[in-house]
Amino acid sequence: MRRYLVAGNWKLNMGPAAGRALAAEVAELLKGRTLRGDALVCPPFLTIPAVGEVADGNPLLLGSQNCADKAQGAYTGEVSVEMLKEAGVQYVIIAHSERREYQKETDDLFVRKINLILEAGLKAIFCFGEVLEERQSGRAEEVVRAQLTGVLPRLENANAYNLVLAYEPVWAIGTGETATPEIAQQMHAFTRGVVAELMGEEVAGYMRILYGGSCKPGNARELIGLPDVDGGLIGGAALKAADFVGIIDGAEASLD
Ligand code: PEP
Repeated sequence: MRRYLVAGNWKLNMGPAAGRALAAEVAELLKGRTLRGDALVCPPFLTIPAVGEVADGNPLLLGSQNCADKAQGAYTGEVSVEMLKEAGVQYVIIAHSERREYQKETDDLFVRKINLILEAGLKAIFCFGEVLEERQSGRAEEVVRAQLTGVLPRLENANAYNLVLAYEPVWAIGTGETATPEIAQQMHAFTRGVVAELMGEEVAGYMRILYGGSCKPGNARELIGLPDVDGGLIGGAALKAADFVGIIDGAEASLD
């Protein structure tokens, strides 16, 4: 019912030449295959056009890791949603834990950015998840509920098609420590329940909820095969073509 999405977040890695080469390598590995889900790469802004040039049967969708919260004007250093759209971007990652932590981004900012993304006809991937101390003190659900409640009801025209959620327990990001299948399924089912309260049962049923946090070829099939997990947001493993394709293979295998 829900099409999987495997999304690679390249973070602050891969200039135009290296990014083009990595995307070409992934495209080569996927050549001739018809995927039953979606595969997306989100390079740094400057690398987006180079990755977009990798055509020739390339099944990779193109995304970005951020966007401005303003449409245009005197906002030095910003990149607008319309500019990204012109460059071929279809998805924009918003509220990644690294931006929450290092750029101190807030719910108000996420709402403005996502509304601009949806208004432009693009899709947003909204990230959320608890830090280690919150999990250890038994507050994971409370934190996730607050993160969802602070943003979802304030979105204009969001639906299960243009909004993707990404549960990313911060303690699992880049640490090599993956959420157990039990934790992942429990948090995803909890998230879907909160989405049902905020956006209705039907939207919740169709909403794609990705798992992020040390996902790799060896655990992708099990994680993405869980009932409420609809794909992965991939950091480190997205930087190696074989690993990224291995995760896509895991997502495909989870459908068999
Ligand atoms: C991420 O940063 O979104 C992420 C999931 O990273 P990693 O796969 O490296 O844990």
